[in-house]
Amino acid sequence: MDGMGVVGDLFGAGKMFLPQVVKSARVMKRSVAWLTPFIEEEKLSNPNAAQGNAKKILLATVKGDVHDIGKNIVGVVLGCNGYDIVDMGVMVPTDKILDTAEREKADIIGVSGLITPSLDEMVNVAHEMKRRGMTQPLLIGGATTSRMHTAVKIAPQYDNGVIHVLDASRSVTVAGSLLSEQKNEFLAKTKVDYEKIKTDFENKKPVKTYLPYSQAANNKVKVDWDQHSTIAPSYTGAKVFHDVDLAEIRNYIDWKPFFISWELHGNFPAILTDEKVGVEATKLYNDANAMLDKIIAEKWLTAQGSAGFWPAQRTGNDTVTVVVGDNKKIQLEFLRQQIKKAADQPNLSLADFIKPADAAGNNDYIGAFSVTIKGIEPHLKRFEKELDDYNRITLQALADRLAEAFAEYLHERVRREYWGYQANEKLSNEQLIKEEYSGIRPAPGYPACPDHTEKYKLFELLGGEETTGIHLTESLAMYPAASVCGWYFSNSASQYFGVGKIQRDQFEDYAKRKGWDDATAEKWLRPILD
Ligand code: SAH
Repeated sequence: MDGMGVVGDLFGAGKMFLPQVVKSARVMKRSVAWLTPFIEEEKLSNPNAAQGNAKKILLATVKGDVHDIGKNIVGVVLGCNGYDIVDMGVMVPTDKILDTAEREKADIIGVSGLITPSLDEMVNVAHEMKRRGMTQPLLIGGATTSRMHTAVKIAPQYDNGVIHVLDASRSVTVAGSLLSEQKNEFLAKTKVDYEKIKTDFENKKPVKTYLPYSQAANNKVKVDWDQHSTIAPSYTGAKVFHDVDLAEIRNYIDWKPFFISWELHGNFPAILTDEKVGVEATKLYNDANAMLDKIIAEKWLTAQGSAGFWPAQRTGNDTVTVVVGDNKKIQLEFLRQQIKKAADQPNLSLADFIKPADAAGNNDYIGAFSVTIKGIEPHLKRFEKELDDYNRITLQALADRLAEAFAEYLHERVRREYWGYQANEKLSNEQLIKEEYSGIRPAPGYPACPDHTEKYKLFELLGGEETTGIHLTESLAMYPAASVCGWYFSNSASQYFGVGKIQRDQFEDYAKRKGWDDATAEKWLRPILD
């Protein structure tokens, strides 16, 4: 444990890196497990032997969210700094988190989440902590969380300390401050900082000008539909692809995000020879590839995908009507940029990339896909049992990489064969990662189509859980966590963008199109409301 202290200090000083910390923690955990029976014996024979007085930190991924790589890393890093970690896993309802915190007498509660609906869930956790009269500090972490959101939305809900934690290394300093004599001073300073962020936010002058929604809708992307010929896909409806070859998918991996999940930042493959992190990055890369060899040879995981194409036309400014069958149509609703643009710049909406109903030739299509990597659970359990966080986290990160690689692989086959609008395309993996191909695969919940609930339609089109192998949670997270879904647009004008903030007029129009009351619309559109 003293050795872990040294590792922790070196990590804090930037002289050791996360993979080394997690591997060191593995040595410690296994040693402690070996010693525990002897320690217990000692305690029995000598009742005065020191009782464990480690401070307890409870961690959970909030209700509706399934992502936990970051939380698991934080757990390991805090664990090797001598804290007693109670990890409640994923999709944990607020009541369960708080009941457990009370029962276990947790000293700190940390909640995590990746998708935007989880932000609301965290506000709810803080609100409930106040209602229950709790006193523990609350830590906020995860990809979409921010200091700004924590200061403006979460901290005002709870008076006994809400702190945004940027990454695993930061969690150690924060926990240290909260569990020492400096606690009050630290909380007081954080409170001042956050209140300033909040007042600055509330007083900020509106620097951006927005167009009325009708005007924005008149400034669509200009596509010459008369000149546009649409290639018909090789099939319509949805097809499922079982057991796609992982050995092939592997070639499409984008390694950069793999290193980022291990807090090693830099381009791939340059990172392998980086002066500072190169040695550790190379070890991690070799370990990951050795595990990939096993995953493939021993069939740990399977890849299941689905892709479909349907006749579609734009039937409103931001509505695309998809023809599913003779008597069945599904209306997709999109959102449009409302910010005032430079003179020649359009106010983008994904609907702009589908041929309008009144253009000549009623022959455009839209596609949808999902991919998932199944079978991870028993392997994670095995690593957990073996006290092997290093391999557990590596496997989780690899499953995510395989899901993204599968999406890349499937998209390429779609362009070359299934839809076939780029039959002669031949790009290297590097070019694929740089998106040098024509067409896009935007994902509901991402900036061009930020409404997560359109996923219900996407999955209905694809044939639901049966065909996709993916379950949608109440927050529209996908389970298994290593899953990706999206729309396919083939138009050469199509591009990624962010909708940005929308105004009241578009909010009302969209709510009406979705059949939502104001509260429901606010719930799902909150991240883009001005
Ligand atoms: N090579 C990366 C690919 C994933 S990120 C990896 O392996 O992680 C890129 C994907 O995110 C895109 O294919 C698209 O599905 C989604 N995306 C990115 N920007 C988007 C935007 N503005 N709107 C909607 N989806 C977006």
